[in-house]
Amino acid sequence: MLIGPDMARASRTSAVIGGGIAGITAALGLAEAGDRVHLFEKGAQFGGKIAETDVDGIVIPTGPDNFLARRTEVFDLAAELGLDDRLISPSAGSARIYRDGRLHPLPPNVLGVPATTELSGTGLISETGSRRAAEDLTAGDDRTSRDESVGSLIRRRLGDEVLEYLVDPLLGGINAGDSDRLSLESGTPQLAQLRTMNPSLITAAKMTLDDRPPNPGPVFSSIDGGIARLIDRAVARLTDLGVTIHLDTEASIERHDDGWSVSSHRVDKVVIATPAFVAADLVRGFAPALSGELSGIYYSSVGVTIFVLPPNTLSIDPSISGVLVPRACGFTVTAISFASHKWPRMAGDDRQILRVSVGRRTDARWRQLPDDALIELVRAEVSDILGQVIPPGPTSVALWPQSLPQYDVDHADRIIRIERHTSQFDGLSFVGAWLHGLGLPACVASGRSAARTSP
Ligand SMILES: Cc1cc2nc3c(=O)[nH]c(=O)nc-3n(C[C@H](O)[C@H](O)[C@H](O)COP(=O)(O)OP(=O)(O)OC[C@H]3O[C@@H](n4cnc5c(N)ncnc54)[C@H](O)[C@@H]3O)c2cc1C
Repeated sequence: MLIGPDMARASRTSAVIGGGIAGITAALGLAEAGDRVHLFEKGAQFGGKIAETDVDGIVIPTGPDNFLARRTEVFDLAAELGLDDRLISPSAGSARIYRDGRLHPLPPNVLGVPATTELSGTGLISETGSRRAAEDLTAGDDRTSRDESVGSLIRRRLGDEVLEYLVDPLLGGINAGDSDRLSLESGTPQLAQLRTMNPSLITAAKMTLDDRPPNPGPVFSSIDGGIARLIDRAVARLTDLGVTIHLDTEASIERHDDGWSVSSHRVDKVVIATPAFVAADLVRGFAPALSGELSGIYYSSVGVTIFVLPPNTLSIDPSISGVLVPRACGFTVTAISFASHKWPRMAGDDRQILRVSVGRRTDARWRQLPDDALIELVRAEVSDILGQVIPPGPTSVALWPQSLPQYDVDHADRIIRIERHTSQFDGLSFVGAWLHGLGLPACVASGRSAARTSP
């Protein structure tokens, strides 16, 4: 016999809106805890940004292709779904940064913050830039408890050149953002952590690298066959758990005195797992102030172009995983990923696969281009950057408009305000990439939190 909270739990019905990784993990957690769950997804399939495409017989991810290995959440989910024997690490892990017609190795660094003052050797940073960065070692302690942008911190301590040719390309490759607006605290907790260690960023980066074990293991992991396999398994598990699945359903919400309706289904609890600007539309009718806060979160748009080339078309050291392209170089391309170096089994027949990213917060020029014009622009730019011609061949374009939430300097305060507004509505909660980190581990953690929030 069920009594007390367990009885309430057994009779609770929940709706999850959004079938990306955060919504799916939220639905899993709620169903495993005993809720009757409805999962609503606007598209024809689950996964959200976790998507793939077939280019000339090769299945290639168009969204995430790996996740941070130092967090445990995706590993735990993979284990729960029986995928732990399919975890893989990239075969190539060494990136280059483009500048002045050459590809430069990175100095030892933590998210682009150098752990050395020897910066001019590779040509990535000039002698002047290197001397400016070294001032960090003797500049006074300017730490405060106030948040600031990554750009303002790095420009002040290490100079413009280190920001523009090291830190910004690395961060831009992750979130397509603008370092001069990106919050140190909410957007780059690893840099915020450096800040607490020592007044000098170079010293803190060196301390961090010195503390690492000699063979720390790969920084990233993935799933053999693609991250989308996580979604397939999770959806199968949701079906086993009796979750009612609504695909091709753009959900809407109505509030009642004693609960909610989601697309005409009466429920006790609603978990919104959509991008923040969609969440803003969903709640506008009953929570205009909350909606206003949600719509203030800016999203960058990106595109991923894919080139499948015959074996040995490009002569690139196979240990190189990709090339980051600083904004200051003026290209539309932001990063080139040598997917077949990272995941050789993807190109089982030795063909070379490039995944080339375009788009950042400060560059929307490419968004007006038709797909074939975008491919030609990217082909020309990549040929220029690599100094080798990319011949015509199978290609693909995936556009991701408004896809990467930007953690601006006021982000933490905005999230506190959003949580305060949300607490006025029993049974309403949010999960997803815009809350506490946009990487897959953070999204899984966010989804998991849905089953813990009450009621
Ligand atoms: C190109 C690209 C590359 C990336 N690479 C990486 C990477 O390598 N590693 C990494 O860790 N992260 C990466 N990310 C980030 C990561 O993929 C995302 O932050 C994460 O997948 C977002 O998950 P989510 O569930 O919060 O949102 P989403 O995946 O956006 O899911 C939200 C879902 O809600 C649905 N929806 C919207 N409105 C409604 C409605 N009204 N009713 C029902 N459903 C609705 C949408 O269709 C969508 O399926 C990348 C992102 C992009 C765009």
